[in-house]
Amino acid sequence: MRASILGVEKPNIDTLERKTLMKLRIALITLCLVAPASLRSAQPSSVLPPDQAAQETATFLRDLVRIDTQDPPGNESKVALYIAAIFRREGIPCEILEPVPGRASIVARLRGTGAKQPLLLLAHEDVVPVDRAHWTVDPFAAEIKSGTLYGRGASDDKGPLAAHIETMLQLHRSGRRLSRDVIFLAEASEETDSTAGMHTIVDRYWDKIACEFALNEGGSAEVKDGRIAYFGVATGEKLPRGVRLVATGQSGHASIPVLDNPITHLAQAVTRLGTWETPTRLNDTTREFFSRLASIAPPDQAALFRSLEDPATERILHEKWPLFYSMLHTTVVPTVLKGGFKSNVIPAEAEAQIDIRALPDENIAAFYAQMAKIIDDPSVTIVPPDLTNNMPAAPSSSLHTAMFAALEASQQKLLPGAITIPTMSTGATDSAFLRAKGVDAYGIRIPRTFAENEGVHGNDERIELQYLALYQRLVQEAIEQVSQ
Ligand SMILES: [Zn+2]
Repeated sequence: MRASILGVEKPNIDTLERKTLMKLRIALITLCLVAPASLRSAQPSSVLPPDQAAQETATFLRDLVRIDTQDPPGNESKVALYIAAIFRREGIPCEILEPVPGRASIVARLRGTGAKQPLLLLAHEDVVPVDRAHWTVDPFAAEIKSGTLYGRGASDDKGPLAAHIETMLQLHRSGRRLSRDVIFLAEASEETDSTAGMHTIVDRYWDKIACEFALNEGGSAEVKDGRIAYFGVATGEKLPRGVRLVATGQSGHASIPVLDNPITHLAQAVTRLGTWETPTRLNDTTREFFSRLASIAPPDQAALFRSLEDPATERILHEKWPLFYSMLHTTVVPTVLKGGFKSNVIPAEAEAQIDIRALPDENIAAFYAQMAKIIDDPSVTIVPPDLTNNMPAAPSSSLHTAMFAALEASQQKLLPGAITIPTMSTGATDSAFLRAKGVDAYGIRIPRTFAENEGVHGNDERIELQYLALYQRLVQEAIEQVSQ
């Protein structure tokens, strides 16, 4: 998941690093060039039983975590090279896509009969940076303690990536021809916007990944007291559409107060936006989410989930369940204030950053116009974001497809005590690019506890290997079901 659209990528690659990347690039090109010849001699191994497949998946994850792909700068080609070697060994054709040197993605395809449209398995290779001082283990050692693997990317997104590699191998080893192609994509630059990422891949290499369905990160599956109550499949997500507010006025000596002091105007604008209650709005996904959640919730909570448009409920959700509140609103959250440089000087300008997460169907131009009315101050300007490489507006994926049904059936088979719930992610993923191309993309994730969840983009990121194995089996099962 990406943190913010405001982070501008500036890769800091020194000369030595450039040389290493150049060598790596040559290695990648060579690997892909020689791949077809080696494919004829490569021997796929046989299908592994579940316990061995789980071990192999864990080994892939360990290796992937040990490859440092903190973004920026990313250096994702190292991961692409690692995966290419595995696929080559097993005889799975693959191709490196490297629009930016050192920042490669890799695509592979298992051919089906073509009776149905392809399916895409997507995961990203880069990880967010670490603050080593707050980790209790080395974030790139992939240490395993009591069945839990620690390391940056264990959850986001190298765990799923390892499981997708294993799924490709197992499907290939089975020798069975599915009714559709299964495409694997490990993509660069998900955590920051750059020309190495999904925007470019969709734009430039669409023919290599065109598909009907996609499985990607997202969704939810919380482990509580050793139990998983529901398996959340993300069918839609909010769009990051944050803005800058810039207040301008006449600078001068603070001993002479003026009415157009930018600090005062900005503070008032930020307060107005920060306390603005945007309207509650349900869509297909959230309507179904709360209705299914009500079916397994205690009576008092169920009553709330059935009266979402009641103002009293809205207040309770905002206080007690901010995540649920966020699913029902386009949210406007001030995050950064900048202004002034000396206590006795009135500055000419002051600025604030406002994080905005728009509901999928939000008319964002109209929303910004509404914000200007709320601010009601001509000295404050709203500066919209540059969306060149960012998520396009996209409709949510349908709840009524063979893929959604296959995910639900797989959950019932492998997690019989739980129920499947469609969710709308409040964060953003690269599924938006696929949805904008008409793909029904679904977000799923490896089950984890609330405490483990805090490690994602935080400290001591970790994943329980039993749930990594479960995720892998679930993905494979869903693909087999939807590709019969
Ligand atoms: Zn992610």
